[in-house]
Amino acid sequence: MRLARIKLAGFKSFVDPTTLVLPGNRVGVVGPNGCGKSNTIDAVRWVMGESSAKHLRGDSGEDVIFNGSSSRKPVGQASIELVFDNSEGRLGGEYSAYTEIAVKRALTRDGQSKYYLNGHRARKRDIVDLFLGTGLGPRSYAIIEQGMIARLIEARPEDLRTYLEEAAGISKYKERRRETENR
Ligand code: ATP
Ligand code: MG
Repeated sequence: MRLARIKLAGFKSFVDPTTLVLPGNRVGVVGPNGCGKSNTIDAVRWVMGESSAKHLRGDSGEDVIFNGSSSRKPVGQASIELVFDNSEGRLGGEYSAYTEIAVKRALTRDGQSKYYLNGHRARKRDIVDLFLGTGLGPRSYAIIEQGMIARLIEARPEDLRTYLEEAAGISKYKERRRETENR
């Protein structure tokens, strides 16, 4: 499963609709300080359901919406769509037959967050579910950021276990059990 495209609009510094095409298994993003490299990673986390503003390097949820610059007015909505190449069918139960899976999130300034799966409205938990056990997800080991290796080495056993369970594909079932127990 490969992330093939990222479509951004009104998200952080990406005010105009922009499509980033990731053509191969190895893509380098280079550019001067502040040009938006890290914002693209924030975008990926955000679509996968990250709800902590701090983890997106902001103070509040709305900080992901373009808030204006010297030449542009702020906009009212941020949206990101991730398009995964799923030709190997590794993603998503009922969606496994789709060769491409598009996951989208949009947020307006009134705090309304909406998710879409291949164009259809979805709940946040549908998105979280889709990625559970794949190694992808807002806090998963698929995104290795600065300081993460040190955090892994120094992790408490129970935190390390979370990573191992995700790698082993168990986390999905644990989440289901938690839900059943809470009902
Ligand atoms: P570095 O090389 O320093 O790590 P970078 O390319 O990773 O830089 P980012 O952190 O992705 O840069 O982008 C930072 C830029 O995004 C800043 O110029 C900041 O003003 C802008 N930015 C962040 N949030 C918003 C927002 N809500 N609206 C407008 N611009 C924003
Ligand atoms: Mg950066």
